[in-house]
Amino acid sequence: MNKTIYILFSFLILFSYKSKAQNVFVSLYNDFEIKTAVIRPVQGKYELIANDNKVLKINKGNNIIYFTAIGDSISAWDLDNHLGIFRKIEIVVKSKKNSFRIQPAYPALKEREYQGGVVLTAKENRLLIINNVNLDYYVAGVVESECGPNAPYEYYKSQAIICRTYALDHLSRHIQDGFQLCDCVHCQVYKNRCRKNDSILLAVKKTQNLVIVDSTLSLIAATFHSNCGGQTMNSEDVWSSEKSYLKSVIDTFCNNQVHSNWTDTISIKDWITYLDTIGFDITQKTLNNDSLTFIQKHRKKYYRINGDSILLTKIRSDFKLKSTFFSIYPENDYLILKGTGYGHGVGLCQEGAMQMARYGYSYSNIIYFYYRGVSIINFRSKKFVDIK
Ligand SMILES: [Zn+2]
Ligand SMILES: [Zn+2]
Repeated sequence: MNKTIYILFSFLILFSYKSKAQNVFVSLYNDFEIKTAVIRPVQGKYELIANDNKVLKINKGNNIIYFTAIGDSISAWDLDNHLGIFRKIEIVVKSKKNSFRIQPAYPALKEREYQGGVVLTAKENRLLIINNVNLDYYVAGVVESECGPNAPYEYYKSQAIICRTYALDHLSRHIQDGFQLCDCVHCQVYKNRCRKNDSILLAVKKTQNLVIVDSTLSLIAATFHSNCGGQTMNSEDVWSSEKSYLKSVIDTFCNNQVHSNWTDTISIKDWITYLDTIGFDITQKTLNNDSLTFIQKHRKKYYRINGDSILLTKIRSDFKLKSTFFSIYPENDYLILKGTGYGHGVGLCQEGAMQMARYGYSYSNIIYFYYRGVSIINFRSKKFVDIK
């Protein structure tokens, strides 16, 4: 396929989202096996449709509905009556302003509030609870869950575009499970509707329909992490797949932030045992303070000692370290690990991006700094966004 045809093809795929991007289907409490849950409207009007037939109206205050999975069916009650046993129940929104609260009763979990409707089914005594929600409400909920309620406005705009891009790029991720996205870290954290900060809602509105694309107009893998420690990572050094826009950048914006520095301690004995376990040719005699010292001024991919090497990502995972960006200094019987950053280090650095916003950089400046050679585009109007 030549490049022009490829770009036209990409446009077609990108803009085919136009009709279906309005709502997304997100599995709630996806990490848990919910048997019983309670739903009650907080705002607006809803109808309960069971097996595609209307059962009752449910409005704020006058209806609390209990749902229990029984095998592959759902038993439903309101305060007064058993409504029946059904294979599928939909709670359908009938007013523009709407929200509902949901709380699992078995197991007992924290109550959450969402907008939009709900589709309930059951399988092997487990409820599948799917929120049918407008993309913008979903993005706002994700931005609040992923970024907290006290960040700068321009940063929220950059994060809203990133979360929207990620969502549209992953609509098929759970297609075999019967929904599009889960509410956990596996997709994007969506633990509530956005309630705590109106500037998130405004940021989502002001960036409505904006997504990030690469030079072939494909949606980018818009990864982000808490703090890069001063230098982001090449995607291929962490996940093996190379992306032209996920390239290492030096980042001074995230210095002196909450997750800038960390230290850890490992006994030399444990370290030698570990190296031995992973197949390093090592004896205590060949080790001294010089060979145990490991310095990273710039990010490295491997830890090397006496001709053997191991991926730093494996060490991070095995020792549950905050990042792979650390140096090692022997001290008596211990190794002191002095590290910077928190997270995988690929893509946007959240604490650096927040600092850029505080210094007056725009959301597009932030996105173009962390993702190289990308464009911001309105996926409905097909217009590119100029750098401000
Ligand atoms: Zn998921
Ligand atoms: Zn950073």
